[in-house]
Amino acid sequence: MRLSGSKALEIADKVFLSRDNKKPSGFKTYTVHYGWVADASLQIIDEVILTVMRSPRSYTKEDVVEINCHGGIVALRRVLDLLLDNGARLAEPGEFTKRAFLNGRLDLAQAEAVIDIIRAKTDAALKIGVEQLKGNLSKQINKLSLAALDILSVLEANIDFPEEEISPANLKEMRIKLDGINHQLLSLLESAKYGRVLREGIHVVICGRPNVGKSSLLNALLKQERSIVTPIPGTTRDTIEEAIDIKGILIRIVDTAGILEPRDLIEKKALARSRKQIDLADLVILLFDGSQRLHKDDLRLIAKLRKKTVLAVINKIDIKQKIEKERLLKKFPGLVEISAKKNKNIQGLEENIAGLVYRGNLASRESTIITNTRHICSLKEAQKLVAGALDSLDNKLSIEFIAQDLKEALGYLEDIIGKRFSESLLDKIFSEFCIGK
Ligand code: GDP
Repeated sequence: MRLSGSKALEIADKVFLSRDNKKPSGFKTYTVHYGWVADASLQIIDEVILTVMRSPRSYTKEDVVEINCHGGIVALRRVLDLLLDNGARLAEPGEFTKRAFLNGRLDLAQAEAVIDIIRAKTDAALKIGVEQLKGNLSKQINKLSLAALDILSVLEANIDFPEEEISPANLKEMRIKLDGINHQLLSLLESAKYGRVLREGIHVVICGRPNVGKSSLLNALLKQERSIVTPIPGTTRDTIEEAIDIKGILIRIVDTAGILEPRDLIEKKALARSRKQIDLADLVILLFDGSQRLHKDDLRLIAKLRKKTVLAVINKIDIKQKIEKERLLKKFPGLVEISAKKNKNIQGLEENIAGLVYRGNLASRESTIITNTRHICSLKEAQKLVAGALDSLDNKLSIEFIAQDLKEALGYLEDIIGKRFSESLLDKIFSEFCIGK
């Protein structure tokens, strides 16, 4: 149970019994105390540990008391009711973090990072959340804002005292600075492309004619038996979706039915579903059976997938190979060879998938990565305005235009870290949190 606010200690005093009869309001900050929670008639409800964190050095910057109960639902409920009876009220979703924001302990981007951390499904997503909570994005936004303010002050001085013209040298310097801001905004927006991948994962579809080993590959990737593997062609009639974590990237893998010519209504539906999956896919793994010559259905699939990002994979390298490998290599230089059944080179395949996602450099990227749609929208607006200001400068338009664009751009940057915010925006952001966060 977590209590926050000016009455936290007063309420704790009413419900906490310690062995030496001391009250929480007399406890030093950052101290932990053993005792009991008891009601007004001194009936004991639970044995607890109570922690005191005094304002301003607490999560919310307010006085905070945390009570660790044994955790059973009845005991927790009784302690909660007792706290409510003594003047506390239930927190709204995310209210502790909202208070931390309103009391200036976190900015808005950092508060949003809390929920990203809670929701992180992969190590990479967690890492980005932690960086944002540490304030890396905020620092960058603040730096950009300061740079914009710097230019604005020159522009506004000129608007106020038009007789003192800005010298060509100063104009040139201003252009360089504006261009710098524009580039940084563009590179933050560029990072959002990876940000989406890291946060939401990518959609990978395994494709191939019946019996090439799609289910076996899915199983090898999952390292557990979850989809049906049988030697009868066409048993995987429907699509199966699983999510796996490959090198920090969430990969949603779908094993398609592999049907080319539906024989009945069920297969027709399955075919339509796999088509849709292929349309949605960020990456298609096209699987071939190495123990057989290329089949006309293989060629048909290659043709069908020519607009997609395809990773070609030869399976069954554990048995005698008949496939025309040279011919495939010409079309797919990044060809990977595996045995799904014997677990050969699955690691190599995973590295290839990750390599395609990271394009070889993201893993070592230390710069800020944008993942939040709200931030992306604000950055886009800010960038458009800065590009507009650059345009106005190049076309020698009135200084007022440039100043106006820049001022608006600054507003959008301030939105990101919450220097400017509306109540409805806060409601929207914090309603995504759960109670108690
Ligand atoms: P799907 O129809 O493409 O999903 O293929 P399955 O995964 O059901 O596999 C079809 C058959 O090929 C099964 O008998 C598997 O045991 C076999 N198979 C799959 N991968 C390999 C492999 O790497 N080596 C060998 N020798 N057989 C495999």
